[in-house]
Amino acid sequence: MTNANIMRMSELCVPTLKEDPTDAEIASHKLLLRAGMIRKTASGVYTFLPLGKRVLAKVERIVREEMDAIGSQEIMMPALQPGELWHESGRWNDYGPELMRLVDRHDREFCLGPTHEELITALVRNELRSYKELPLTLYQIQVKFRDEIRPRFGLLRSREFIMKDAYSFHASQESLQKTYDDMSAAYGRICERMDMDYRPVEADSGQIGGSVTCEFMALAEAGEAELVHCACGWAANAEAGDCLARPTVYDVPAMEKVATPGVHTIAELAAFLDIPESSTVKALSGKNDAGDLVVLFIPGDHELNELKAERVAGGFTLLTDEDMEAFGLHKGSMGPVGLPEAARVIAARSLQAVPKWVVGANEDGYHYVGAQLGVDFKVDEWADLCIVQPGDSCPKCGLPLEGARGIEVSQVFQLGDKYSKAMGATFMAEDGSEQPFLMGCYGVGVSRTMAAIVEQHNDENGIAWPFSVAPAHVCVLPLTVGDDEVQPAAEKLAGDLAKLGLEVVIDDRKERAGVKFADADLVGWPLQVVVGKRGLAEGKVEIKHRKTGARRDISLMALTDAVAFAQ
Ligand code: ATP
Ligand code: MG
Ligand code: MG
Ligand code: MG
Repeated sequence: MTNANIMRMSELCVPTLKEDPTDAEIASHKLLLRAGMIRKTASGVYTFLPLGKRVLAKVERIVREEMDAIGSQEIMMPALQPGELWHESGRWNDYGPELMRLVDRHDREFCLGPTHEELITALVRNELRSYKELPLTLYQIQVKFRDEIRPRFGLLRSREFIMKDAYSFHASQESLQKTYDDMSAAYGRICERMDMDYRPVEADSGQIGGSVTCEFMALAEAGEAELVHCACGWAANAEAGDCLARPTVYDVPAMEKVATPGVHTIAELAAFLDIPESSTVKALSGKNDAGDLVVLFIPGDHELNELKAERVAGGFTLLTDEDMEAFGLHKGSMGPVGLPEAARVIAARSLQAVPKWVVGANEDGYHYVGAQLGVDFKVDEWADLCIVQPGDSCPKCGLPLEGARGIEVSQVFQLGDKYSKAMGATFMAEDGSEQPFLMGCYGVGVSRTMAAIVEQHNDENGIAWPFSVAPAHVCVLPLTVGDDEVQPAAEKLAGDLAKLGLEVVIDDRKERAGVKFADADLVGWPLQVVVGKRGLAEGKVEIKHRKTGARRDISLMALTDAVAFAQ
């Protein structure tokens, strides 16, 4: 007897591996390979095999449902993007080597989209005319390309990956704020539906350079982001600047190159240079030609921690009058000042010390010390100047903060008029004037989320998928294939479970029971139903809950009743 609604292990392409692959360092990478869900095609480029594709589709479905529920409309933009648009926004130059560029046969510049602000702004510029058509939110679920300096950890940091990206367009800040709030709530629900232990980390929670943005972090040791969080729910980014670990090509002979063996994090670098880590100022996207992270060291703790600044167009920060006063800076003397400049002035004035810039060199194990801002590198965007450490008291409730690592699974962002202004995307406002659209952008790393889920749901035997994203809900395991009692009973059971609305797979391979158990645990079906001769004689099968390992007998009669009831 066969049943079209169930999947068969004898037919499925699930090439499981007994041993850990040597080039995989973390659980999700190892287990997704071992469970036969993904295969590496090139560095940071993966193929999804049938079960992996099913999980991906489940994650996508949850994301899609939550997007549709808040009125975001699905579209599909091309991955191949004309360079022209990137020149308009200024990012053809600014994006750096992460942008995958190519030239067509007519010598026209293109890139493979790492994100789609340019494309969508150009679209809306042509299609929307009036405030009456606003607000509008569009999204897509699509492949993205980023030539990451260091692709690693399988799906966590790849060069080709799946992202859901949404973009919203507004006539007013209130309208942008509303959509931003709706998106944030949807992102929370997405994480919850996938049983994710996550923290929303607001980048402007008392930190400098705060643009309105929030990152959703899945807590996991393998995560690249360092966080502090509190039982009350407050969390902040304490970025450890992993970028320091892998400096890229960047050669400025004028700077002092020092060997920094074994230095991979800011903490290690600070220790190496004998500077307290609390005195580091970190630039998240401080940039040289290679897009390296740049760190400013200021000896000793200082008032920077209290510095408040406002973001202005262009990614720089503007000190408020209050700040200027607080730091003894002469009002008006600096104009709209870049924060790095302010940091130098403040450091120089209050500590009589010139800050020391350290950037990654073009060799692993080396850094440049004494680089000059504006000469050797520039800084586009600053964050995390207020460094919060584990043990500090929570700014919200006063309890001591805990340290944790996180995986950035998604991010919401208020862009304002950054792109619409640069690209001349305007609409007619209610008063008849032409105004640039206010925009928001919102990204979910769909393939990264799949890996993040595995990081949080695994044990020594394999993956334990949450029900909502599992490749199937239940695996029926006939202990003896070909047995004229066990086999038909298992087939009927599988059919019954499918009738109850479950997604069912049957392990009908002619393998030893031990092999089947091991594969079922490795692949991570949430439920396993074991059909054996002895149980059948008593009218029972055994059901195992993968996550907890709990086992229980269920009577076949009860199941048949349930199916009859459901029909
Ligand atoms: P990261 O800080 O990890 O480099 P990002 O801030 O550059 O990520 P965004 O531009 O915010 O990423 O993109 C939206 C989402 O896309 C991220 O929150 C993340 O989930 C996902 N993402 C970004 N880069 C990658 C990558 N290299 N591989 C897989 N997913 C990624
Ligand atoms: Mg990135
Ligand atoms: Mg990020
Ligand atoms: Mg991000």
